[in-house]
Amino acid sequence: MSILRAAERDGVIMEKVSDYFGCMVFDDRVMKATLSARVYQSLKKTIDEGAQLDISVANAVAAAMKDWAVAHGATHYTHWFQPLTGVTAEKHDSFISPSPDGGVIMEFSGKELIKGEPDASSFPSGGLRATFEARGYTAWDPTSYAFIKGKTLCIPTAFCSYGGEALDKKTPLLRSMEALNKQALRILRLFGNDSVKCVRTSVGPEQEYFLITKEMYDQRPDLKYTGRTLFGAKSPKGQEMDDHYFGVIKPRVAAYMEELNEELWKLGILAKTEHNEVAPAQHELAPIYTTTNIATDHNQLTMEIMQKVAAKHGLVCLLHEKPFAGVNGSGKHNNWSLATDSGVNLLSPGDTPYENAQFLLFLCAVIKAVDDYQDLLRLSVATAGNDHRLGANEAPPAVVSIFLGDELNAVLEAIETGTPYSGAEKTQMKLGVDVLPRFNRDTTDRNRTSPFAFTGNKFEFRMLGSSNSIACANIMLNSAVAESLKIYADRLEGAEDFETALHEMIRKTIKDHKHIIFNGNGYDDGWIEEATKKRGLLNYRTTPDCMPHLLDRKNVAMLTSHGVFSEAELKSRCDIMLENYCKAVLIEANTMVDMARTQIAPAVENYTLKIARTAAAKKALDVGLICRYESDLVRKLSVLVDRIAVKVGELEGAVAALHTAEDIIAEADMIRDNVLPKMGELRLACDEAETLTAKSDWPFPTYGDLLFGVK
Ligand code: ADP
Ligand code: MG
Repeated sequence: MSILRAAERDGVIMEKVSDYFGCMVFDDRVMKATLSARVYQSLKKTIDEGAQLDISVANAVAAAMKDWAVAHGATHYTHWFQPLTGVTAEKHDSFISPSPDGGVIMEFSGKELIKGEPDASSFPSGGLRATFEARGYTAWDPTSYAFIKGKTLCIPTAFCSYGGEALDKKTPLLRSMEALNKQALRILRLFGNDSVKCVRTSVGPEQEYFLITKEMYDQRPDLKYTGRTLFGAKSPKGQEMDDHYFGVIKPRVAAYMEELNEELWKLGILAKTEHNEVAPAQHELAPIYTTTNIATDHNQLTMEIMQKVAAKHGLVCLLHEKPFAGVNGSGKHNNWSLATDSGVNLLSPGDTPYENAQFLLFLCAVIKAVDDYQDLLRLSVATAGNDHRLGANEAPPAVVSIFLGDELNAVLEAIETGTPYSGAEKTQMKLGVDVLPRFNRDTTDRNRTSPFAFTGNKFEFRMLGSSNSIACANIMLNSAVAESLKIYADRLEGAEDFETALHEMIRKTIKDHKHIIFNGNGYDDGWIEEATKKRGLLNYRTTPDCMPHLLDRKNVAMLTSHGVFSEAELKSRCDIMLENYCKAVLIEANTMVDMARTQIAPAVENYTLKIARTAAAKKALDVGLICRYESDLVRKLSVLVDRIAVKVGELEGAVAALHTAEDIIAEADMIRDNVLPKMGELRLACDEAETLTAKSDWPFPTYGDLLFGVK
């Protein structure tokens, strides 16, 4: 079997992955081949060091990009951006330009490459544009390669208002990377490291998803409108046998994964690992990690292509965080690390005590950041969908804590108490870097229940929902760590004795922040009790609980001081995220009312009538039958259908009452407190009716059909 349907590069059919990998990307190889040495060098300078790009270079790059794209069949170009809807946006323009002879030539200028002006008035701006112009503009991000999708050259861009406010997720992400770079460089200089030019964060996002058949999907309005099932009794078998996890991949799924990999590889996306996940019909795809803003672009593209390829295979890829009640939902693990331009991972323990002092400082910066900004990390992953996962004994809890593993924990304890660390040579760990401990790399501890786990040379932030853009979590993480490093650098730059100050600072961080470190089972109920009551950690269970804290004074001060967001941008994001929450739940509520009233209740009534008729027919035989089964069932179903009608009314009432909400925060609170519970009650009645109704009379595919339908 040819594992790879051939891809084409410059008209040549290629079979080997290494031949066609990145063939749809205007990457370094293409730049080198198509740009003059002068243009290439100056573009590289812009990419690597953020240098200004002059217009003659932009023109030359645009011309080369266009020629390359046209040679690969492209007719259009688009500024590809990530508005606050959470998905990507694109508006296509063709390259054509009329020529005097009545024909056309294909044109693309440096100006068009650098800047675009989409009519963006329908994108959420949270009030940012109201006082300015309705239009926004897009600006090329040369650090993320342009690529061809279909017949369109896609240029990754940032999206801003004319007042300069970021209307997207990429702009603050780039700003947060810059903030972290600046502070990390200050620390490295203190350690005498003068040659490093920049520090970048890298991310490898593991992506979970479900695959179901398109045929069944089409029969479920809830899946079509909301991405999740709003009704559905548990199937007799769920995930209790754990037989799906890492199980043999079914042929239809294997064919899907094969084509998905090919499509991703052509786009230069390093799709690496694929396997079945815990729940039936659930799978995972992990790429090899790369620079955060590129990883973010790639993850957005991956989600889009996952859905496109599924459609070609008669499947639907569900990216919702909780498509099915009673089995695991889907998340995204954000594996995050910091590295220098020379390739040194700053979260990797070194060989010498001196390197380890630097490592410990960066480690402490993360510990302090996660503790000081638990709320920002929590709210960076908050959506209506993810609220169903966090804290539901399958994903990390809504409480943020850090797992370090036994060895690192012992090292930190030894430093804090000034006692010898017995894991390595018996060294008294008191003063200065010379005596900081040596310890092994590759701590092999594994913990799957921690929201924020150290895994040897990176941190794995596990609270993200499967449909989230990873931009939000990384913006907060980068900014919070930049803040810790800034505090450290301020102190150390002014210290008389660097080594003593360093040691004291590490020790103080451990002392002040050790309550955030938890190495036990995060799914344990006892942990939530301990975390909140004894340790005073935050536990924001829902989006309305956490989102308003974006505007807490300490958070606004930190994020604005690093230039990641302006205050107006923060206000707009808070509003938009709460609006998104309200809209998502309202669509669900309306879909439930509709399905219950027009599909479920009529189905139950029909079935009840059939049973009642059967009973009547039996009784008419006049052979003394009492028809207990039928009468019991008719009674139960009649009670249920009445309850369904009542619950539909109550849900409608809860929705109607929302117009009394004074603002978006109040509305979100009402949705959490009134609408969602009513949805739960309506579902309960409907799911019970499902268990009593003949399968042939039920109006849509059941959980069993959906979860075990792909062969
Ligand atoms: P698992 O968590 O399932 O054990 P792996 O250890 O294979 O998975 O890694 C998961 C993800 O972490 C992959 O996307 C991988 O590329 C990424 N990763 C590995 N090293 C780093 C690093 N230094 N920085 C960021 N991500 C990394
Ligand atoms: Mg993982």
